[in-house]
Amino acid sequence: MRVHAVGNVCIDTTFRLDRLPEAGETVNASGHADGIGGKGANQAVAAARTGSAVTLWAAVGEDADGARIRQTLSADLDLSGLVALAFPTDRSAIAVDACGENLIISGVSCARGFDPLRYTDLLQAIAPGDIVVMQGNLTVEVTSACLQAAKARGASTVLNASPLARDVAFDLNCVDFVVVNEGEALAMTGCAVPQEAAGALIAHGAGAAIVTLGARGCVLLEKGIPAVFIAAPGVFPVDTSGAGDVLCGVFAGCLAQAMAPGAALRIAVEAAAIAVTRPGTLASCPTAAELSILMK
Ligand code: ADP
Repeated sequence: MRVHAVGNVCIDTTFRLDRLPEAGETVNASGHADGIGGKGANQAVAAARTGSAVTLWAAVGEDADGARIRQTLSADLDLSGLVALAFPTDRSAIAVDACGENLIISGVSCARGFDPLRYTDLLQAIAPGDIVVMQGNLTVEVTSACLQAAKARGASTVLNASPLARDVAFDLNCVDFVVVNEGEALAMTGCAVPQEAAGALIAHGAGAAIVTLGARGCVLLEKGIPAVFIAAPGVFPVDTSGAGDVLCGVFAGCLAQAMAPGAALRIAVEAAAIAVTRPGTLASCPTAAELSILMK
């Protein structure tokens, strides 16, 4: 079974700071570096490194950044769904403090202009049993339409509802697994207790809910089954940006290999713990060799 990662890709500039700035404040970074990121691309690469075949459905600009993204990602991914639009390639600024905490600003012109159902043959490419994984960077309308189309084609769907739109809610009725962090879970449900938030997400239509808890791990709630808590291994965090993407991508990659959700999530939690010990977003993703050890 194939994974279709449908979402965004961008150039990330990561700034290392002693502490994150307050509103109105300017702080000097101790260093900065460019890399490829975007939740769609991060999740696609993480899924591919589990050994699953992955197609990325995303948009870049017709510029040098777009060409660089295409060339770099071709090592891991099928890029037949990567289109070029008449916008500059999207960019994110990521600030990471000395404790590994982060603050991210994303430019999303390409992501907001991208509709895979109009610009690509996504619909024809999805086969029954495939896994379609999406995030919150495309518009809510496009995301919902893609998830609906994926379900109609017999795929299983994973929605990492991040970042959350302010004014429009995701329709969870076409979502088999919704993945959110504690803050997103609270914003979507009003519940501060992860298990209760997961229950509310299922009541809103999701088949199952995963609430991630940072260094504590995550909670998986499947309809009709008691909640399962999966603890994260204790590690020293260097940069937590991209950890949630590694978790979602590895989870989707393992589902595509017919693993049960609980087993897939245990591997995803181990993989995310490796990612937080390294700088960068996509650059922090475990290698295929590391993932094959986790999957044994
Ligand atoms: P997000 O990064 O999307 O805000 P979380 O902070 O909950 O979400 O992190 C996602 C996952 O990454 C967690 O469920 C956990 O498995 C892993 N993770 C995050 N921080 C740590 C940490 N300090 N140690 C180990 N694993 C971590």
